[in-house]
Amino acid sequence: MRGKLLVIGFGPGSVDHMTKRAREAIEESDVIIGYKTYVELVADLIGDKPVISTGMTEEVSRAQEAVKWAERGKKVAVISSGDAGVYGMAGLIYEVLIEKGWTKDSRIEVEVIPGISAIHSCGALLGAPIMHDACTISLSDHLTPWTLIEKRIEAAAAADFVIALYNPKSGRRTQQIVEAQQILLRYRRPNTPVGLVKSAYRERQQIVLTDLEHMLEHDIGMLTTVIIGNSSTFVHDGLMITPRGYQRKYTLTALEQPLKPHERLRKEAEPWALDQTKPNVRAIAEEAVQKFARQQKQPTSIFEVAVSPGVANKTFSSQQLLVLAELVGDKGTITYTPEHYIKLEIQTDDPAYIVDRLKEAQFLLAPVGDVLTIKACDFCDGEKKEAIPYAEKLHAQFGGMALPKELKIGFNGCGMACYGAVREDIGIVYRKGAFDLFLGGKTIGRNAHPGQLVAEGIPPHEIVATVACIIQQYKEHGHPNERFHKFFERNKQVGGFMYQKQPVPLEVPVCGE
Ligand code: SAH
Repeated sequence: MRGKLLVIGFGPGSVDHMTKRAREAIEESDVIIGYKTYVELVADLIGDKPVISTGMTEEVSRAQEAVKWAERGKKVAVISSGDAGVYGMAGLIYEVLIEKGWTKDSRIEVEVIPGISAIHSCGALLGAPIMHDACTISLSDHLTPWTLIEKRIEAAAAADFVIALYNPKSGRRTQQIVEAQQILLRYRRPNTPVGLVKSAYRERQQIVLTDLEHMLEHDIGMLTTVIIGNSSTFVHDGLMITPRGYQRKYTLTALEQPLKPHERLRKEAEPWALDQTKPNVRAIAEEAVQKFARQQKQPTSIFEVAVSPGVANKTFSSQQLLVLAELVGDKGTITYTPEHYIKLEIQTDDPAYIVDRLKEAQFLLAPVGDVLTIKACDFCDGEKKEAIPYAEKLHAQFGGMALPKELKIGFNGCGMACYGAVREDIGIVYRKGAFDLFLGGKTIGRNAHPGQLVAEGIPPHEIVATVACIIQQYKEHGHPNERFHKFFERNKQVGGFMYQKQPVPLEVPVCGE
């Protein structure tokens, strides 16, 4: 009869986190071999099958014993915690077999059944610390020379891997974790988040969130996995999270803000992402290495801000332009956007300094993103200035406010409305001492259309409150990413103004047809 070795990873410890195949494999085997603690964890599944359980250090003899039983034609379950291929029994079993001249056609069949390894079970309990490139390093120098382990810690630390340390400490081995911490501190900030998970998904489970500097003040033992964050790992509400990419953005409203999911998928937000068209793997790898070397010295964050000379003032002074050039430097960008503002992207780890310098140069600053912006006209170079205070009031009160989607208020100081206020989400036009109000313009697209004229002659002292009511309603009831014109159409009214369907544009016959 052909014997079979079922090398089973049973996951972290609870039956719920074991795969169906792992359970079946235990059930279909004739004999069970494993370290006694593990055998106890799956005792319910074993029933009254013969069990050969040995101590931790006798792994080789356990593998030899398993092979012997298989040679006698038995189905043997060799059980390992986590995944049997990660510091488990799978490799040893093959080594013992190969020494005996085993090939796939031999009388003994081998099936390795995967399980959830500690890096994944402990990662899940901590939040989402793995997420990006990660590695496992075992600190046990029982089978590996310490000099090699040291080298691996150093390389992983330098390359900014998230690291899961297995076998961090035991009764006799207490120094390795101390030395590992010292190596890591040479490459990572002392406040790098560190998670310690002991006995994940077992009865005595313990989860501790700490940092690189303080990690040794907590209990670490044989059953602990230590997860070290990379340079962008952060802690939120007791959870350890590694973002999917590196580039972070500062904005005026949130001093440090990770990219939003929809932004992260854009190529310009992840400039290192593989080009879809012609991947030249070598060139990409070389560029990545150079980029990494540069990043070691450079700030890793980008500060984004929109600047203008003022609400009504549209003229930049040469002094202001010099300040922009200096602050942006070689690495940043100055963009004139389709929305007619100047957007700066500045590499810095000190956004507060940039804000101070820009304010000193008399710039008006506005955040970038899903916020409210006010685009006012130049009030005919200030000649028609009666409405300016209202534009400034709106800017001071609502400029930069976070909303479901960016919202533009167009504000024009006379009936000419030459800055196109009526085409914006909210259009305000000052005429004959009062305001006309347009809502739900669609600025771009084939079906672009002006806003609906919802009121004429709003007295000046009422305009700010009227607009406030509209904005508040959109803020509270707009769906995330829902543009204002869509919201107006869906909601049927906003601020008490009723929506009216825009007439469908006439089909214009193509000349000659
Ligand atoms: N094959 C196992 C690893 C065995 S080495 C796996 O894939 O998970 C033993 C080390 O694994 C322990 O020192 C500890 O660091 C880690 N480990 C295994 N099970 C664990 C659990 N339930 N909770 C925390 N760490 C665990």
